[in-house]
Amino acid sequence: MQAASHIWSDGELIPWDDATVHFLSHGLQYGTGVFEGIRVYGTPDGPAVFRLAEHMERLVGSAAAYGFAKSWSAEELTDGCLQLLRRTELESAYIRPMIFYAEGNIGLFPTDNVLRSMIAAFQMGPYLGHGSDKGIRAMVSSWRRISHNSLIPTAKGSGGYLNSMLAKQEALRSGYDEAILLNEHGSLSEGSGMNLFVVAGGNVHTPPVSAGILEGITRNSVMELLAGDGVATQETDLARGSLYTVDEIFLTGTAIEVAPVVEIDGRVVGDGKPGPVTRRVQDLYGDALVGKLDEFRHWLTYV
Ligand code: PMP
Repeated sequence: MQAASHIWSDGELIPWDDATVHFLSHGLQYGTGVFEGIRVYGTPDGPAVFRLAEHMERLVGSAAAYGFAKSWSAEELTDGCLQLLRRTELESAYIRPMIFYAEGNIGLFPTDNVLRSMIAAFQMGPYLGHGSDKGIRAMVSSWRRISHNSLIPTAKGSGGYLNSMLAKQEALRSGYDEAILLNEHGSLSEGSGMNLFVVAGGNVHTPPVSAGILEGITRNSVMELLAGDGVATQETDLARGSLYTVDEIFLTGTAIEVAPVVEIDGRVVGDGKPGPVTRRVQDLYGDALVGKLDEFRHWLTYV
């Protein structure tokens, strides 16, 4: 990770190296934090944040879902993020905002603990190297995605990411690039930190919220971009076996963007190359990010 000059910490811009927490921070001990991942892209009109308001609204929504005390509003965090980007002068970046319980009690009801908010921004290249162009190799994980019965899959809670880590660890140790997780009922859910799409007979499908997914902002963007092309994405409960018969598979997320999956569980997907729908989505998404599509320019917040 490449350090930037400053970090936003509860309303102040502090030097990167001063952003520290106590060992007994509640969030560190129990994962009682919620966070976001956002990207800023260099565009011909200067750096622009992709769907900033939606990310900050999801952050505040995740905090409310887990019953956190109220802290900063989505508008205040949006403002803080822009202040940070102006100060750090990053042309393109990954932004990591977080709200977490810090010092105070060690018990599991952290009412007296300090609730802290931070926003960091730093340079980051492609999440999977150049795999996003060529396509990646994925496996269905032996781990099941966190369920609606034990956590809140639609909220981006820190503790839940131990589940993502297990799936990613297993995939990499087995020689794959990514993991696809089933939910507790055995239906397809999503990747370790990305949503899943499949294309079959010209129809585009993605698992529904009830499958235990995080409702990705990239997922929503892709659905809107495809709708603009006259293609309606169907939210469908999908079985594992369908991965072996579909024409195309792709994963979407802020970090990974749009990544074709060209091999799944040792089987070639389609003809082993990114398919036409996947490539079209990559092109549309790539254009939307840099403001080339007028109807989607409202997704960009220029720094
Ligand atoms: N699922 C999970 C578990 C994730 O962590 C992410 C990344 N935030 C996604 C899906 C994709 O969401 P987004 O497109 O909003 O980045």
